[in-house]
Parts: sequence; C-alpha cells; structure tokens
Amino acid sequence: MKIQLNKCKAFLLDIFFPNRCPFCDDFIRWDKLICNNCRESLIPANDKICRICGQEKCCCHDNKFNYDAVLASFFYNDKNVSKAVYSFKHQGIINIAEYTAYDASVHIKNENITVPDMIVPVPMGIRKQRSRGHNQAELLGQCIGKELDIPVRNDLLYKKDTKDEQHIHTAVERIKRVKGLFYCENEDLSGKSVLLCDDVMTTGATLNECAGLLKSMGAEKVIAVVCAAARLDNSQEKGA
Ligand SMILES: [Zn+2]
Ligand SMILES: [Zn+2]
Repeated sequence: MKIQLNKCKAFLLDIFFPNRCPFCDDFIRWDKLICNNCRESLIPANDKICRICGQEKCCCHDNKFNYDAVLASFFYNDKNVSKAVYSFKHQGIINIAEYTAYDASVHIKNENITVPDMIVPVPMGIRKQRSRGHNQAELLGQCIGKELDIPVRNDLLYKKDTKDEQHIHTAVERIKRVKGLFYCENEDLSGKSVLLCDDVMTTGATLNECAGLLKSMGAEKVIAVVCAAARLDNSQEKGA
C-alpha cells in the first residue's frame, strides 16, 4: 500500500516537476532513475572495483580495512557523475542517491550479501549540517532504507566540528587527519550487520574510521555503500 502511494505521489509530482536524469539533466519518464544514454555510457563502478577494498586497483594485500565490502555505483571522475554528486551535496537533489539505493539493493541480492540490520550514514559536524541544511549521507541512507526496508540510525556515530576541510589535504594527510574526527555512542551492536553510507569514497579513510568505530561497538559486518568512488590516480582532492 505504502509503495503504491509513493508511486502515485511520484507520478503526480512529475506533472509539476518533470523527472530528470541526474547525470545529463535530460527529461525522463516519472518512474525512471537514469536515462538510457547514461545507463549505457556511464561506467558501473560496482563491476570494476574490488568488492573488499573498494579500489579499482585492489590494495587488499598491503592493507587491512575495518569494512568488509564496498559497493559504489559510479566513478566520481566522470564529469556527469561529479556534477550529480555536487547537486546532491549542495542542493539536496536526491536522484543519484535513489539510483545508488536501487543499485546497491540489486548487488546485495545478486551477490548474496547479508541484508544489513541497519543503515548508519557517515555523520557531519553539527555546525556544518546546520549551515548546509542537510547531510547528504543521511539522505542516501533514507533512500537505501526505503529500498531495503531497514532502519536508518543517525544516533550512533558523530563527527566533531572542525574548520579543516578534507578536500584541501593530500590523500596521505587526509588519512592522518581523519583519525579521531569521529566518535560513537556506547551501544552494543554485537552480531549486527551494518550498512555504512556516504556520497563519495576517495581514499576510504573516512569509511575506514567510521567502520572501525562500528566494529568497536561490536558490529560483526560493515558494508560501505557510496554513490561514487574516485579513481585515485587523477582525483585526490574532492572527498574522503
Ligand atoms: Zn542521462
Ligand atoms: Zn581489494
């Protein structure tokens, strides 16, 4: 019933605010998430990255990660993807998040990944969230929550407010600086599988730090889901 109502709402909304492809801005049918052109031309990152480390060039041999799997729909370096992430981050336009939620649910099902018990979005500092008006990771979490019908918990992880902007640092500096930026509630997550989500993954430092806190709370498994993963060779400055 709820799904029918949501579809009805989407159809009616489309009359006044026609649905657009998040990547090329072309008009698309009210019940589509992406246009055919972009579906064929954008590289599906999920088919290219290592499922464990989330990097295109697997680095699992040299590193150990706190997360157990990474799902990423696209590559951030694609111009139309970075544009869609920008609109999502700064204007709260959630089309790319809706696509990522759908895409992640398909991969979870097809790859027999355990459906997580809860979704935990990467938190934003309170001051920053107030000035931006939303946390894009939370918006993505809500989209995935609807798709998989699991709860979103934004009361488990917190981020300290800091003047440091992640994107001004190099990859190595960023990995160091992310340490201690987050803290967690004293809740027992023993035996739970958690889906940790964020808009973009660059080095994976933020996801690794947050996954470490979830593991310290007892989480058995942490699956990271992002809209886009950066190809590290030529994009080191946009996320974490
Ligand atoms: Zn398109
Ligand atoms: Zn790997």
